Amino acid sequence: MTVFARITRVTRLTIPLLALAACGGVQPDFRVRGAGVVVRSDAAFTRSADFPTRIESTVEAALGYWGGSWSDLAGTTIVFDGSPHVDCGNLGPSTGCYDGDIRVSTLDAGESITCVEATVLVHEVGHAVIGDAGHVDPRWMDFTSLAGALYGRTGYAATGPASCDPVANVWRHPPRT
Ligand SMILES: [Zn+2]
Repeated sequence: MTVFARITRVTRLTIPLLALAACGGVQPDFRVRGAGVVVRSDAAFTRSADFPTRIESTVEAALGYWGGSWSDLAGTTIVFDGSPHVDCGNLGPSTGCYDGDIRVSTLDAGESITCVEATVLVHEVGHAVIGDAGHVDPRWMDFTSLAGALYGRTGYAATGPASCDPVANVWRHPPRT
């Protein structure tokens, strides 16, 4: 009896673990702190050597603004998408989305955005920190201090350096009351 039970236990240990490799969704291209980054865009800023550090400093500024920390983004994937719109559940096509992961478009009115600071990343980090899918919090309309902190950085176009305008309009959303 005892010997038979031991043999059974040993046999169970040989179950292959290959199935685990298929789990976990998209492999990130690189990581910034605990967040994975996936690039599905050929916008010049996503190909620039400083892209990871620009994401980091932009997210850092956003977390400061929203009162969050990197732990709010642990396990989150940030996708930079070259399509004009990203899918966002029942919200339909959007310039950005947070649904546990973050997706932002790198196009604005058909033009390539020139820097990460000008995407809606800061807005979506806000959802990651405070939720507020209905945009009730007044901070959605008051990005001036944050835009100021990110101003004056280099932008990138296909033809070379470009301006980088962290335009507050891109991130704003009128509070829904
Ligand atoms: Zn929003």
